[in-house]
Amino acid sequence: MTTAVTDDSSAQAAPDCHGRSQRRMSELSLQNDPDSGGVSKRINRQRHHPPRIGIMGGTFDPIHNGHLVAASEVAWVYDLDEVIFVPTGRPVFKQDKVVTNAEDRYLMTVIATAPNPKFTVSRVDIDRPGITYTIDTLRDIRGQYPDAELFFITGADAVAEILRWKDVDSIWDYAHFVAVTRPGYSDSGTIRRAPKGKVDALEIPALAISSTDIRHRASLREPVWYLVPDGVVQYIAKHGLYRV
Ligand code: ATP
Ligand code: MG
Repeated sequence: MTTAVTDDSSAQAAPDCHGRSQRRMSELSLQNDPDSGGVSKRINRQRHHPPRIGIMGGTFDPIHNGHLVAASEVAWVYDLDEVIFVPTGRPVFKQDKVVTNAEDRYLMTVIATAPNPKFTVSRVDIDRPGITYTIDTLRDIRGQYPDAELFFITGADAVAEILRWKDVDSIWDYAHFVAVTRPGYSDSGTIRRAPKGKVDALEIPALAISSTDIRHRASLREPVWYLVPDGVVQYIAKHGLYRV
């Protein structure tokens, strides 16, 4: 009985937003599993199953429902315990573009992901000085979760960028890669250029939404309701983002 109380109290501690809570997150998900039985069975399962963690990197300028659906679907299909959203600092492939400041993008990501108990947000990329390289993201998250199985979630369009990444040959050791379909972007051939078996392609419910389109709509004062979560609509309006 004493063991059960101690265990439950750690299981109910809230996860922090820095991606350091995989133990508690996996305990929570197991605790809610009707088949998991009593406390001792939960602990056994956890000891024998390393946490499965998704990493959803992006500029998130702003985060939109396409990102959220992709993360949710991969979490479901791959039985992930947690998905960590990682807003980029200075994205390497967008250096010629103006990108909204990191704190606004980070806060919108926190607002958008807050309702989902499996979603967390990490500051590793926005707190690391200089240009963001995804190899550094993967190293940092691996350092925080040495025992976890990592799944890097990406749009099929971004697979081409992956193949241009710094240290591309070593990235495959850090995580499984899951490329989700994205309307309007053809992935013909790109996934095949990745080393065999390293990138899974996953069809998800199609949402033809992009941050570029949302910025454009917001600049014209057109509605962005239901393309992004309500809190993000309000954040954009409150802070006057994307007005020209
Ligand atoms: P931008 O138009 O500014 O490039 P974006 O909508 O592509 O923004 P990013 O932050 O660049 O969003 O994307 C982060 C990741 O999410 C990328 O891997 C991208 O391919 C994926 N992604 C973005 N939108 C969708 C969508 N509607 N469906 C599936 N994946 C998506
Ligand atoms: Mg993009």
